[in-house]
Amino acid sequence: MGSTSPVVVATSSAAAVARRQIPFGRPMIGEAEREAVLRVLSGSTLTHGPLVRQFESAFAQFTGAPHAVAVSNCTAALHLALLALGLNHGDEVIVPAQTHVATAHAVELCGARCVFVDSEPITGNVDPDAVEAALNNRTRGIAIVHYLGVPADVLHLREMAREYNLFLVEDCALALGTRMAGVHAGLHGDVGCFSFYPVKHMTTAEGGMIATRHARLAEEVSRTRAFGIDRNIVSQRQLPGMYDVQQLGFNYRMNELSAALGIEQLKRLPEFLAARRHNFTRLRHALAEIEHVSVLPSEVAGGESSYYCLQLLLDDVLRPRRDRIIEQLAAAGVGTSIYYPRPVPEMDYYRSHYPTRPGAFPVAARLSHQSIALPVAPHVSDEDVDYMAAALRQVISKELGS
Ligand SMILES: *Cc1c(COP(=O)(O)O)cnc(C)c1O
Repeated sequence: MGSTSPVVVATSSAAAVARRQIPFGRPMIGEAEREAVLRVLSGSTLTHGPLVRQFESAFAQFTGAPHAVAVSNCTAALHLALLALGLNHGDEVIVPAQTHVATAHAVELCGARCVFVDSEPITGNVDPDAVEAALNNRTRGIAIVHYLGVPADVLHLREMAREYNLFLVEDCALALGTRMAGVHAGLHGDVGCFSFYPVKHMTTAEGGMIATRHARLAEEVSRTRAFGIDRNIVSQRQLPGMYDVQQLGFNYRMNELSAALGIEQLKRLPEFLAARRHNFTRLRHALAEIEHVSVLPSEVAGGESSYYCLQLLLDDVLRPRRDRIIEQLAAAGVGTSIYYPRPVPEMDYYRSHYPTRPGAFPVAARLSHQSIALPVAPHVSDEDVDYMAAALRQVISKELGS
């Protein structure tokens, strides 16, 4: 690799502008969040308190979920959800090749097997025809991701799940604010799992949420997130420290500090989502005339995206230069990311557990190797958007030697 001399970014008027520093993600923590966390610290209840329940109700209200159960992160949410749906050793679950490893790990953690399927090329979401082709008599369910917050074809997948008597789990880690046919992501299938990791749409530092239409499933995950302790016995117990346990469980609870953050962040979520949409639209416009790149569309019929990022796709001319372009953008102060660096079945762990033939997931591989994710989160200003577009234009023309 040659050296990457810093790009001096020029605006359209050709005047060099001051270098900016635009991280891919930055948590939007304000005074209200700081005060809420300090209030918890000034009290004596750090866990098992009222704020987790309050956060759950507020989240249920925002999404329209009949039941919401807060947990320690989205991976824990997926794990608890799959166990509650009865996933067992030897069972199979359809999993997209192009997703965060957490979707697949949760299946593995239950002792079940992933059957990976490729994406459809327009949105990067799982291809329902590929899902149907992968079903067999060991298939128990379908786990999908709403790739980058663009709604997957959940109406079709839900029908398929019904027809074959399978469960449908939605990994909604990037899909807070995503809707299809007016219904929030996570509520089409049996369970939706959300993440509040710092770069997501809102944060609790670490945190997750399980949203579901099924009361029994919500009760089950409420128990298994806390050792499997029987809740009724806890509330009825006469002596401190007395309880009974009827099943295996985890310690996957959310704490009160995280819930306090979550309650404040949720109040700002509509504003965060509007900012993402605005930034996405402005950036897509600004990039429209750059050759050799295209933008993965964020609009699908009947759906609303959560605009997690703007996914650039490089053509075959620029493909070999993808990593150099990322390095030069970083040198110009533009933070980027890759979703995801390899198709999950091509990650070492999965390659050693699941023999797959090379090139088995061409769409997922193209997304892994030819894409660059640009930030559109609320920390990004209009000036940042214009700067990113100018920087990209310059980096690309430098790479093409023009
Ligand atoms: C971030 C992410 C996860 C993991 O979320 P955690 O809260 O960090 O466990 C899972 N799935 C997808 C699609 C993600 O983007």
